[in-house]
Amino acid sequence: MPLYEYRCGRCGHEFEDWKSISQRDEAECPKCKSEKVERLVRSFGLIGGGRSGSSSCAPTRSGFS
Ligand SMILES: [Zn+2]
Repeated sequence: MPLYEYRCGRCGHEFEDWKSISQRDEAECPKCKSEKVERLVRSFGLIGGGRSGSSSCAPTRSGFS
């Protein structure tokens, strides 16, 4: 199941969620419960377990091995 990133269209909160392909547009903001969320498109490599919470990670960073 891929990890998707979302940004809430209401409060601007950014969050991540594991979704199946068919559910990827069914996210809900964990803060304000709004369903008006925008899916952020990013190319991930492996997710190594550490989630920095920073939204300014360089997208070219790849690979935790
Ligand atoms: Zn929100």
